[in-house]
Amino acid sequence: MQLYPTYLLVTLISVAAVAWYSSNALSRFYLSHMETDLMARALFFEPQTVRLLNPLNGEAIDKLCKEVGRHTMTRISVIMPSGKVVGDSNEDPAKMDNHVDRPEIMAASAGKVTSSIRFSRTLEQKMMYVAVPIMNDRKVVTIIRTAVSVTALDKAVADIRTKIAMGVLVIALIAALVSLLVARRITRPIEQLKKWSESIARGDFNYNPPEANSEEIESLSASMNQMGKDLKGRIDFITRQRNQMEAILASMVEGVVALDSDQRVLSMNQAAGKMLRCDPQSATGKTIQEVVRNTSFHDFVLAALQSESPVEEEFVMAGRQERYFKVRGMILRDAQAQRMGALVVLNDMTQVAKLENMRKDFVANVSHEIKTPITAIKGFVETLLDGALDDKENAIRFLEIISRHTDRLKAIVEDLLELSRIEQAGGQELSLEKASVKEALETAIQLCETKAVTSNITIEMDCAEDLTATFEPTMLEQAIANLLDNAIKYSEEHGCVRIRAKARDQEVVIMVEDDGSGIDQDHLPRLFERFYRVDKARSRSLGGTGLGLAIVKHIMAAHGGHVSVESQIGKGSVFTLHLNP
Ligand code: ADP
Repeated sequence: MQLYPTYLLVTLISVAAVAWYSSNALSRFYLSHMETDLMARALFFEPQTVRLLNPLNGEAIDKLCKEVGRHTMTRISVIMPSGKVVGDSNEDPAKMDNHVDRPEIMAASAGKVTSSIRFSRTLEQKMMYVAVPIMNDRKVVTIIRTAVSVTALDKAVADIRTKIAMGVLVIALIAALVSLLVARRITRPIEQLKKWSESIARGDFNYNPPEANSEEIESLSASMNQMGKDLKGRIDFITRQRNQMEAILASMVEGVVALDSDQRVLSMNQAAGKMLRCDPQSATGKTIQEVVRNTSFHDFVLAALQSESPVEEEFVMAGRQERYFKVRGMILRDAQAQRMGALVVLNDMTQVAKLENMRKDFVANVSHEIKTPITAIKGFVETLLDGALDDKENAIRFLEIISRHTDRLKAIVEDLLELSRIEQAGGQELSLEKASVKEALETAIQLCETKAVTSNITIEMDCAEDLTATFEPTMLEQAIANLLDNAIKYSEEHGCVRIRAKARDQEVVIMVEDDGSGIDQDHLPRLFERFYRVDKARSRSLGGTGLGLAIVKHIMAAHGGHVSVESQIGKGSVFTLHLNP
């Protein structure tokens, strides 16, 4: 509606200008008309005056002035070039002052016909004077001055001005009304277009374009409609792309962090949040120093922001558990290909590093375990070759030692083979079946019977006839046998080993309990690692390889279950197998 006041103002100014100009022109027209009239009256009066000039008959002139003045309602004065008034229609010339200083008289004395409007001191009102010089032989003989009151004229002009002002007022009112209507007609669709563009800006594209009442508005509305459609298309496209991007980032195993040039987080995916131990949502907008407390990572981010080419680095993050990361960083560019930050991709290598370490440990352990019996065998074989063969008694003793070490080697190799067999089986589907637990326990006990009898150890079993679980019989029997074997090995002579099985909380548990030496708490977390032994010498002397419990752990993992241990030094241990029912 800002158009309306402008409209109104323009209309009012033009109407006022026309009114002012016309009233002025009117007044000018009146005055000039009056001037010509006065001049004509003076000229009309001239012949009668001239006749009374030579010789000068002042009285007759004054009389004539008074008579003609009365008839023509005009003030007539006859004035000598010297300024002396000879006759006057309204006053006694003898009482009138010298008129030489009056402007019209001054001009007439110089031979010019002029008019002037001024206040008459004689008649005490505003008058228009016209002075006509009467010439004789190029000399001004006398001056005839005619005058009328302008007050009446002023009043008439004022009247006309009032009428014009009234007219202007009426015209202004009509103009105001008309311009209001016109402005409304123009501004309403513009207001609607404005609302429409605001709704587009808010992302609401459903608003309908306004009804156009002019060609301009119609074409503006059409182009805005087109613009709205294009915009919606683009926004939809961008939204689709963003959703795709978010889905990709969310499903990525790698952590992705986008940073601006001030090292503030622009975005971060879930994986990165997990790796850097922070909430991706609240991290956005913060500097990387606030989000991650790791100076090597900060240095890396700085390097990625400054380098032209991608940078790569590995770093360790301290914490409850050390974690290894491989990070790649590259510059992020905006739509104008200007640097706007950097993109950092994190790969958690902790598991890989762990596996690598385990592999290295395993190779070292295997080599070490095998080296001892091989060195011993080689030593004794060489001794025999060096002549000990002839000493029959010693030779037999040496050969027995060689045989023991060979058994040990055999045991290690067999256990390793067993382990790798289970590991491989773990990757594939085991042929699991619902089977009787009691039968498995009995078979395992049979496997260890000889050893138990030799050590004078009794084995007690407690298991319900109908107890079943899901397992692969040979494998489970092997696991139970390993636990029984250990229980027997680490029990005192005449000891007792109890084996119990029952269903408990959605699982079937098999517990192997002994009253033997027990295990210190410190060793429990590592007990199931390959080649881990609490007392190496004791284990070796008992024929242990350090692989028994590792085999149990793997067998249980292949069954989707696990093994746990509770133990107290000097009191004994309980190993529990947890199986699916
Ligand atoms: P090993 O062949 O040496 O017995 P295992 O893997 O079977 O190897 O056992 C690892 C270690 O756990 C053993 O060396 C022993 O120190 C300890 N251990 C296992 N079972 C028992 C048990 N029932 N009582 C005490 N110590 C045990």
